[in-house]
Amino acid sequence: RSLAMQEAIVLYPSPQIGHLISMVEFCKLILTHQPSLKIHILNPPPPYGADSTAPYISAVSATVPSITFHQLPTINLSISSSRHHESLVFETLRLNNPNVQNALISISKNYNIISFIIDFFSTPAFDVATALNIPVYYFNTSGAGCLAFTLYFPTIHKKTTKSFKDLDIHLDIPGIPPTPSSDMPKPLLERDDELYKFMLDFATILPKSAGIIVNTFEALEPRPLKAVRDGQCVPDSPTAPIQCIGPLIATSDRSSDGSTGNSIPECLTWLDSQPSKSVVFLCFGSLGLFTVEQLKEIAIGLERSGQRFLWVVRNPPAENQSVAIKALSDPDLNLLLPEGFLDRTKQRGLVVKSWAPQIAVLNHDSVGGFVTHCGWNSILESVCAGVPMVAWPLYAEQRLNRVLLVEEIKIALPMVESENGFVNSAEVEKRVRELMELEQGKSIREQTTAMKHAAMAALSEGGSSHVTLDQLIESWKHK
Ligand code: UDP
Repeated sequence: RSLAMQEAIVLYPSPQIGHLISMVEFCKLILTHQPSLKIHILNPPPPYGADSTAPYISAVSATVPSITFHQLPTINLSISSSRHHESLVFETLRLNNPNVQNALISISKNYNIISFIIDFFSTPAFDVATALNIPVYYFNTSGAGCLAFTLYFPTIHKKTTKSFKDLDIHLDIPGIPPTPSSDMPKPLLERDDELYKFMLDFATILPKSAGIIVNTFEALEPRPLKAVRDGQCVPDSPTAPIQCIGPLIATSDRSSDGSTGNSIPECLTWLDSQPSKSVVFLCFGSLGLFTVEQLKEIAIGLERSGQRFLWVVRNPPAENQSVAIKALSDPDLNLLLPEGFLDRTKQRGLVVKSWAPQIAVLNHDSVGGFVTHCGWNSILESVCAGVPMVAWPLYAEQRLNRVLLVEEIKIALPMVESENGFVNSAEVEKRVRELMELEQGKSIREQTTAMKHAAMAALSEGGSSHVTLDQLIESWKHK
C-alpha cells in the first residue's frame, strides 16, 4: 500500500444498537489519541429489516466528520421462528461477506487500511479481511472473565460429550471462580444448537486474530486477564495480545434521553427531589422482559422493602411478536402492577415506562443502588458511577457475569431465583434492603467506590487503558 495515502481503520459491528454505540465510542476515543486517522464503519442491515440505527448514525455523522458510515445492503432471510435471533444475525452477516469485501476494496483505493475491527457476530468477515492482507482485531463487548471462558470453551467441548445443561457440575475455567455449568451463556446450553457451533468457531478464530481489544480495565479483572495472557485458556497454541482500553461507556447527556428531544426527562427531575444515595434503580437492559406474574412479585418486594425506587417497566413478552417491537410499545401499568401499588408508593417510588436515561440516572446523587440484568455495558456504567449492584441475570452471558460480580470482583449481591427462574417477592425485598441499608451492602459499596477510582485512573493520562490505546494505535502504523 502506498505510504502517501491517509491511514484509516475500518470497523464492522453487529447490527445491534448497543454494539454500534460501543464501537462508535471506541472510535471517538481513538480520535482523541490520533486525530489524523480516518474511520470507516460498515453498518450491516438488521436481520428483520427494521432500521433502528438510522437516527443514531445521522447524529454521529453530523458531529464526528472523521467517521464515515457505509450502509451494507439488506439481506432477505427466510425467517423461521425456530431460529434464535442470534442465528439470524450471524446468517445476515455471513451473507454480507461479498459486500464487506467490496467495501474494503473500495476503501483501500483511497486509504491505507491499518486495521479492521470486528466483534463476535461479524466473525464471518474474518477470512475476507485476512485474504486482503488486512490485520483483523476483535472488539470484545463483554469483560475479561467472559473472554477467559470463551477462549477455554473449545477445551471444555473436547473434554465432554454432554450439553452444559446436562452436566450439572461446577466448571473450572482458568482465572474465574468455579461456575455452574447451567450458568453458561444460554445459547450454549444445548450442544446441538446451531449457535453452539457458531460460538465454537468464534472461540477458535478469536485467539488467532491480530489482537483482542477488551472493554474492561486491568484493575477490575486482574485474575482472568492473567490467566488469558499466561496461555492457560488456550493451552496448545498462542493467544493474540489482549488490550484493555476501558471502561468505555457512552457519554451521558442529562438534557436528553434519546426520545424526549431536549427536555429533561421526568425521572431526573423526580430524582432531584430525593435524598442523597436513597433510591434503588431497577433496569434490565435493552431486551429484559418479565412476565406479569414476575412484575407483580417485584412490585410487592419493592413495596415491602420500604426503600425509595425508580423502576423501568416494560410490557411482558408476547408470543408471535418480536422482542424488540413488543418492548417498545407502552405498557399499561394499571394492568401490569398490583392494584393500588402506584398510589401506595407514590411518595417514594417512580415507575418509568419502557426506557430511562440509564447513565444519567446512575450518575444522579440520589441513586444508591442498581438492580441490573448484568449486561456488560450496564455493569461498567454502574462501576463508573460508583453504584453497587444486585445481579439479576436474564439472557446472553449474564449469569456468568453474576458469578464474576458477586464472587470475583465483589461489587454486587446476587438475586437468587428458584429452579424455574422465578424470583419471589421475599427475595426482592431482602436483596434490595441488603443493598441499600445493611452491612452486606456496605462492603460492596466500598469495593465499588474503589473500582470507580481505579476506572478513572486507568483512563487518565499514564493510566493502563490510556497507555494501552496509545500503544495499540502505534502498533497499527507499523503493521
Ligand atoms: N439502557 C438505557 N435505558 C434503559 C435500558 C438500557 O439507557 O432503559 C442502556 C444502558 O445504559 C446500556 C445499554 O442500554 O448502555 C444496555 O447495554 P447492556 O450491555 O447493559 O445490555 P444489553 O441491552 O446489551 O443486554
